[in-house]
Amino acid sequence: MSDFSNESVLAIETTLNEVDRALERLRVGNYRRCQVCDTSIGDAELIANPLLANCPAHPELA
Ligand SMILES: [Zn+2]
Repeated sequence: MSDFSNESVLAIETTLNEVDRALERLRVGNYRRCQVCDTSIGDAELIANPLLANCPAHPELA
């Protein structure tokens, strides 16, 4: 497997993990909550990125 393929697999696995976490947040009812400060994430942000885990003040993925 080439380095490029390894990077692609890593990128896909990262996305899958983000999807898993988003589904888990939906299941437990804190999907719209920032994972850092617990503030409510706006509709526009979630439409732009349904996997968003944090508010705009905490843009890093939780
Ligand atoms: Zn926040």
